[in-house]
Amino acid sequence: MYTLPSLSYKYDALEPFIDTETMHIHHDKHHEIYTKNLNDALSGHDDLLRKPIEELLRDLPMIPEDIRTKVKNFGGGYYNHSFFWQCMSPRHDQTPGEAVKVGLEKTFGSFSTFQEEFTKASLRRFGSGWTWLVLDEKGLAVVDTANQDTPFSEGKTPLLCLDLWEHAYYLKYRQARSEYIQAWWHVVDWEHVDELYRKK
Ligand code: MN
Repeated sequence: MYTLPSLSYKYDALEPFIDTETMHIHHDKHHEIYTKNLNDALSGHDDLLRKPIEELLRDLPMIPEDIRTKVKNFGGGYYNHSFFWQCMSPRHDQTPGEAVKVGLEKTFGSFSTFQEEFTKASLRRFGSGWTWLVLDEKGLAVVDTANQDTPFSEGKTPLLCLDLWEHAYYLKYRQARSEYIQAWWHVVDWEHVDELYRKK
């Protein structure tokens, strides 16, 4: 069984950038439903229910065909949100740790160019999806995925993600995805990103 992970900070810890009500609905309702639907889809498959979610997403072809789409969608939603909460911190306006800072500068030229590329990818994504900073065989990269798809399916390791579904920002920012993205940069947990990058 998969369980809904608790937030490691209070629901109002990301104010004023991400509002308390959005955090409640997003975590307690949306993430909860993904968790429930994932468990329902996997009921009777005790071997799969015991595996870490990353493992299922990394190798979707091994999932029985009749439940594969459900595992991709609900398992993706379950993993993406679990990771998204970890990508944000009550300690606002962090700067990137040294290791990932050097990596970003090497790949993108500068930290602000990376931010521009990540923002551009987030605005370009039509409809619902996610933007990611990932590590692949060539190094750091910005990618975006549709719906609840994850970079695992393409063999990439996530370091940072941003939820682009309207439920992530509509209450406070209405249709203004760009304002949401600008606000979100203030709450990125760069310490967490750096830790994952150093473990690479
Ligand atoms: Mn979401």
